[in-house]
Amino acid sequence: MSIDIEIGTSLSNEDAAHFAATTEAITSAMQRVRESHAAYSWVWTDEIRCRGCNASLDIPLLASTNLSADKAFQAHQSAQLDALLAAGGHLRGKAG
Ligand SMILES: [Zn+2]
Repeated sequence: MSIDIEIGTSLSNEDAAHFAATTEAITSAMQRVRESHAAYSWVWTDEIRCRGCNASLDIPLLASTNLSADKAFQAHQSAQLDALLAAGGHLRGKAG
């Protein structure tokens, strides 16, 4: 009945540990991104600015709605997350 059990048993202990560590790294990175890039302000009808890092984000002029701004801001957050993971998210094992 439970899919969880099937996934759990198909992972070796090493895989499971790696998976848990990766998940933990991503979760903590996401928290840092949400804290550091928590909100945005409208600068102009086609521009928003991250209140955390002051990054300027373009909004398509004909689609300057809160929805577009949210999307642009989410893209900004996910870019920050990628950068954070690329910079500090590598797990031990590879020489840097
Ligand atoms: Zn930001």
